[in-house]
Amino acid sequence: MTAVTRVAATFGWKKGGLAILANTPSPATPRRMKKLILLALALPSLASAQTIGDRAAALRDAALASDTVAWDFVEGLTTEVGQRLAGTEAEARARAWAVRRLTELGFSNVRIETFDMPVWVRGEESAEIVSPFPQRLVLTALGNSGATPAGGIEAELVGFDSVAALEAAPDSAVRGRIVFIDHNMMPTQDGSGYGQFGAPRRQGPTVASRKGAVAIVVRSIGTDHHRNPHTGVQSFGQGARPIPAAALSVPDAEQLRRILARAGDRPVRMHLVLTPRQTGTHQSGNVVAEVPGSDPGAGVIAIGGHLDSWDLGTGAIDDGAGVAITVAAAHRIMQAGRPRRTIRVVLFGAEEPGGFGGDSLFARHRSENDVVLVGESDFGADRVWRVEFSLAPANAALADRIAALLAPLGILRGPGAADAGTDLGPYRRAGAAAIDLNQDGTRYFDYHHTPDDTLDKIDPAQLRQNVAAWTALLAAAADAPERIEPAGAPPAR
Ligand SMILES: [Zn+2]
Repeated sequence: MTAVTRVAATFGWKKGGLAILANTPSPATPRRMKKLILLALALPSLASAQTIGDRAAALRDAALASDTVAWDFVEGLTTEVGQRLAGTEAEARARAWAVRRLTELGFSNVRIETFDMPVWVRGEESAEIVSPFPQRLVLTALGNSGATPAGGIEAELVGFDSVAALEAAPDSAVRGRIVFIDHNMMPTQDGSGYGQFGAPRRQGPTVASRKGAVAIVVRSIGTDHHRNPHTGVQSFGQGARPIPAAALSVPDAEQLRRILARAGDRPVRMHLVLTPRQTGTHQSGNVVAEVPGSDPGAGVIAIGGHLDSWDLGTGAIDDGAGVAITVAAAHRIMQAGRPRRTIRVVLFGAEEPGGFGGDSLFARHRSENDVVLVGESDFGADRVWRVEFSLAPANAALADRIAALLAPLGILRGPGAADAGTDLGPYRRAGAAAIDLNQDGTRYFDYHHTPDDTLDKIDPAQLRQNVAAWTALLAAAADAPERIEPAGAPPAR
């Protein structure tokens, strides 16, 4: 406690402190009273920031020591619902589950906001090398993949090291063939390899289709060496016919590379069966819950993660953990009393196939113009190691206070800007302030979008550290005495 807070505490000053002061029977002379009132008027921002900081630190430490809400949420969701592919009946069950649980936890205004989206579902998937070295390979279809006939297709393979190499190849080298694209993604703490090395999955199918390939298989965008392929979305660009598109597990991609090398001049032929389907337009939705604030003019803080998942695992780290972390942190603020600003927690639908939930939330509510700060948790369940801010210069002191609250959790202040991810990015791009709590991604791409995305990959201690970080951030921001200013649109990338 500083001298300043001690003075405030002596006079029982909080909000409305002046009234208490004025009513206190005291021997104060009018002149002394005037001095005290002036002192009290000078105190509010300083004293309350200090008090809020102390409270935030206590809430942070309690979360770190003993939070069970996040674990219970992700354990319940992944056990009772399991996989939650966007736009399917499973995702609808997840929404109903979340509404029940959020209501039990005491949140206000719990609701589902539906939207329509095109839905793609997986079918049969198998592949084998027919010649010269016959053997089965393990793969899985990429989102929006086209289909082979039920009996599959057989064609010659042609391999490339990158999308650029495929682009540079003459169409005649690709036409009528199955394209294979390799890459060399390595684990990194910040997960930055996903952008660059994700190109074979994201752009490869469109480029291959335009060049006349009959199908494409890519090395999984993964950093493990298990025989688990990593799925993920891709979208065929204009004029590109939807060809069958799949990801080989990393060991199978390495095997195929060796097969192509040892085959020499002999053609390598693959038989491929992929029978996914576009099932048309179906309903998805965002689940929204609130901790109402006491000052409607102070703006809303919107946080969350995505409720949908890919269909191969149970969506524990992607992104059951993110919704669980943000729900648990908001719940701690709620239990500690009414915050100044409303906290809106959003469990987004249909993030994986292309951020449909984030776009829908923003389109539906943008005219309300009430969201002043956003943050998303969607990078697993390992510990937060860095915080990055996109706050207005006028809110530099708020950023400093939050960084100081996070430092005891081992969280560094990074040099970059926050972008609020896929789900809340639309608010950020429209100018809202944002804070990113970056999680350690070193092992994230070992499990991401595979059958191995299951609850046992979540470390309860690291999950609690996430809840502690989000709780500290929310406690400081929700009660911040200053205005949270728009940060301005980010520079175009
Ligand atoms: Zn995700």
